[in-house]
Amino acid sequence: MRLRKLGSSGLFVSELCFGAMTFGGTDGLWGQVGKLGQEDADALVGAALDAGVNLFDTANVYAHGRSEEILGRSLKNIGVARDDVIVATKVASSMGEGPNRGGASRRHILSECHASLRRLALDHIDLYQVHAFDPATPIEETLEALDTLVRAGDVRYIGLSNWAAWQIMKAIGITGARNLAPITSLQAYYTLVGRDAEREIVPLLTAEQVGMMVWSPLAGGYLSGKYADGGNLEGARQTELDFPPIDRVRGAPLVGVLKQVAVKHGRRAAQIAIAWLLKQPVVSTVIIGAKRVEQLHENLQAAEVELDPDDMRRLGAASRLP
Ligand code: NDP
Repeated sequence: MRLRKLGSSGLFVSELCFGAMTFGGTDGLWGQVGKLGQEDADALVGAALDAGVNLFDTANVYAHGRSEEILGRSLKNIGVARDDVIVATKVASSMGEGPNRGGASRRHILSECHASLRRLALDHIDLYQVHAFDPATPIEETLEALDTLVRAGDVRYIGLSNWAAWQIMKAIGITGARNLAPITSLQAYYTLVGRDAEREIVPLLTAEQVGMMVWSPLAGGYLSGKYADGGNLEGARQTELDFPPIDRVRGAPLVGVLKQVAVKHGRRAAQIAIAWLLKQPVVSTVIIGAKRVEQLHENLQAAEVELDPDDMRRLGAASRLP
């Protein structure tokens, strides 16, 4: 597994990251995608480590904390050295009733970071990410709270997730002016069927040397091409959540091209979709989602695919922004 720098930081991360959003077992919006138990998790985390993955992503809100607990337990069960893994988690989504149980206030960030440390059973988090922008909290308050965590040794690096370009730029300006812990990464949705990030986010991250961590690289499984003609989403979780949102009219012909490129390389459509992301210089890592070890193996092999200029031209034309 090749390593890449996470933005301009000195941290080297595997170009494929393991996403633990599927770990859990509770009901509710986030519970729907978090159904795997400890045994499944141990198998997936073990397979990811064997393949050279060093970066693991979760969030406090995934299955209401269960994902963090299961991931932390898996790392212990497998016995990997703490120094050999990079653990990333997130804060800001609602963890309960009322405005103080979510968001990016100083109080919530500090208390949730310690709750995440307890659930992960770790003494520090490598990358702590603000899951979403909180319009109710001044950005300064959020950034100062994150800086407090870095200075206390609870957190090593700071990342954002799903912030708009102007919000990220404002945060970069404030951290620079106040000498606060810098913004190292952004988690963003970026796929062949969702290239909106290219309008503002990609140029900004490139200019500011912030690393992009791509989430839902298969658009929740859609780009695996397993839904007939790219159009039939029956049974897929998009039908429950419509998340990430997919333009199915434009998506169907794109999936057709993906499959053609896959046949040319003797690969699967999912591997081509991930390989296309790995060709984008802004990308530090692609966060792989998989519910089964076979899916994980298939997706990890995307790192072996070398797309040529003709493939990139065809995929680019089929997925171009309107
Ligand atoms: P994907 O878009 O890759 O979707 C993964 C799902 O697609 C799997 O659960 C599986 O579902 C299906 N799938 C995966 N591989 C294959 C394959 N080879 N062939 C066929 N189907 C396949 O990623 P996720 O949406 O799971 O997101 C990945 C990670 O990104 C998360 O774990 C999380 O860490 C992060 N994330 C971050 C967000 C944020 O807001 N910052 C938002 C969302 C995710 P099935 O078998 O049911 O079809």
